Amino acid sequence: KYYNLVENMKGKIRVFCRIRPMSRPEAVRGDATIVSCLDEYSVIVETARGQREFQFDRIFGSESSQEEVFEDTNRLIQSAIDGFNVCIFAYGQTGSGKTYTMVGDKSMKNPGIIPRTFTKIFEIMHENEAKFDIKVSAYMLELYNDRLQDLFVSPAEAFSKKIELKKDKKGLVFAHGAETKDAASAGELFALFEQGCANRHIAATKMNVESSRSHLIIGIMMESRNFTNGTVCYGKLSLVDLAGSERAAKTGAKDEQLKEANSINKSLSALGDVISALSSEQPHVPYRNNKLTQAMQDSLGGNAKTLMFVNISPSECNVEETLTSLIYATRVK
Ligand code: ADP
Ligand code: MG
Repeated sequence: KYYNLVENMKGKIRVFCRIRPMSRPEAVRGDATIVSCLDEYSVIVETARGQREFQFDRIFGSESSQEEVFEDTNRLIQSAIDGFNVCIFAYGQTGSGKTYTMVGDKSMKNPGIIPRTFTKIFEIMHENEAKFDIKVSAYMLELYNDRLQDLFVSPAEAFSKKIELKKDKKGLVFAHGAETKDAASAGELFALFEQGCANRHIAATKMNVESSRSHLIIGIMMESRNFTNGTVCYGKLSLVDLAGSERAAKTGAKDEQLKEANSINKSLSALGDVISALSSEQPHVPYRNNKLTQAMQDSLGGNAKTLMFVNISPSECNVEETLTSLIYATRVK
């Protein structure tokens, strides 16, 4: 019944809200659960000033599985193969489940959207072997403090490279100066992704920063050639795990932390501005205000299909951030 949801979403932005389960420390502390699903489309938050209700295209409760989430996301992969630009991204405070939703848990026993997407692309390709052939290539970037880093090369090499976002003749964004790698199977694509994650981890450790303080941007380009009529389709999938949205500038934050927090705030508000300009059909969409929105430009607006996850915590201790995230996500509709 959600099929229409993603099929009719050309040029629109859909928002799915996902509530993570209580973490062990929260449960041990006996934190109250202040978030509940009224139905599949409404979420209720208990605040000191009473209840607040928010509506989205779909709510996934804390018991929802990775399979269920992918079930409803799935069709967008076919759209990208059919020549649409698709963007799937996760927004929320650190610890709210963005990486769990996009990538999976640490053990990868519960893979998220990114690895499932890799499998799905090649599944579709094999099912249609007689009809068409797909060429898949990808880039993987990190945006930290307004600087783009290529995750497909070693951190030492990445550090000395200047990456610029440009658009090709088809209007697709590409990262000039960064590697774009071909992948002939889901396994190859996954190996590239794992290498990228390892590079990201090494770079973060070296610079002593949390990976949750940077944005992860993956671009997957798909060129499908139809054998029967000779047509070629170009589609692109952008998969983005955003930096934590929390107001990180706590008292006593050092210069470096302030700079980091400011850069994240700026990019997330630029993204909010672009999305709200698109949903209110304003003539000017301020893509160029930030590298994050420039990187996502080809998959926001126009013919693109965009799916945003707003990830939230169920615990009373996060009520302020939860409200802030839900308000941000409501702006998008
Ligand atoms: P974020 O990327 O937003 O900082 P994470 O995805 O790392 O948050 O999630 C924080 C912790 O909660 C991780 O240990 C993760 O495995 C767990 N977690 C998040 N969402 C879920 C979920 N839906 N089901 C089970 N565990 C989850
Ligand atoms: Mg994360």
